[in-house]
Amino acid sequence: MPSFVKMEKCDGCKGQDKTACMYICPNNLMKLDKGRMKAFNQEPEQCWECYSCVKICPQQAIEVRAYADIVPMGGAVIPMRGSDSIIWSIQFRNGNTKKFKFPIRTTAEGSIDPYKGKPNADMSKLDKPGFFNLTGPMPTIGK
Ligand code: SF4
Ligand code: SF4
Repeated sequence: MPSFVKMEKCDGCKGQDKTACMYICPNNLMKLDKGRMKAFNQEPEQCWECYSCVKICPQQAIEVRAYADIVPMGGAVIPMRGSDSIIWSIQFRNGNTKKFKFPIRTTAEGSIDPYKGKPNADMSKLDKPGFFNLTGPMPTIGK
């Protein structure tokens, strides 16, 4: 079920032009109501429940209500992301909570250069099939 914002927790990312949830949503669903300084999911039926907005929100103001066959009504799955690990809190409907901590990266944040060692893109080949970092012929599927 789609993400929803807990209004009492959201601070509109303190009035920044683009909030954290707007920045991260791969489907551009999150929107800021600047009058109230509260974010909301503007098209819940388009949400694919990827949890990205839930994990990035600095106020823990967003939740995705899991399907009842996975997380029974009254339960909740709440992540808290750090710079090198994430803690998932599983709240059971009888009030019990269990926490699980996992490492999420092996390199320092911002240290990865995805284009390191790759050739520059040849813009004259933009309308041709292929990959910019492929120097030989296109590989053929099945061969
Ligand atoms: S990231 Fe969280 S605090 Fe920031 S605008 Fe979105 S819901 Fe509100
Ligand atoms: S759960 Fe994913 S798709 Fe849904 S609003 Fe959040 S970031 Fe967007």
